[in-house]
Amino acid sequence: MQDIPSRFDSMLRKLREKGYRITPQRLAILKILAGSRGHPGAKEIHALVKTDCPTTTIATVYKTLAVLKSTGEVLELEFSADYNRYDGKKPGPHPHLICIKCKRIVDPDFTSLAEMTEKLASQTGYKLISHRLDFYGICPECQQKGQPIFFVHRGE
Ligand code: ZN
Ligand code: MN
Repeated sequence: MQDIPSRFDSMLRKLREKGYRITPQRLAILKILAGSRGHPGAKEIHALVKTDCPTTTIATVYKTLAVLKSTGEVLELEFSADYNRYDGKKPGPHPHLICIKCKRIVDPDFTSLAEMTEKLASQTGYKLISHRLDFYGICPECQQKGQPIFFVHRGE
């Protein structure tokens, strides 16, 4: 995994290549994404950017995200049209652990995934290029709050 400064540089290079003007607003967005441990949504990014650059519009955030997404510099986690979340720290496909209560998203540490992918490729003959693997549950903090748990049935 690339560290934060090189993720930032890599995103900046892509925006330049695409002919985007590098504004303080865009730089602030890149900085947030490069260190995005918490998988922020566009609105969250917008709120963070506005503390430094109050004139930033949500449209600028969406536009910047779209460019980065099209160049593989940010991973978009699609949930609903309105609430996608972004990972600019690790832009390649990787599994996620999602709290269904507070919507916190973390990157689990997986050592067996590469092995699983290899096995799957050799068993099926597929040339694998991506994956999407999400685990849903309730984070320790939400468990402590002791609210009732709703089970989510997906994929039907
Ligand atoms: Zn939670
Ligand atoms: Mn992630």
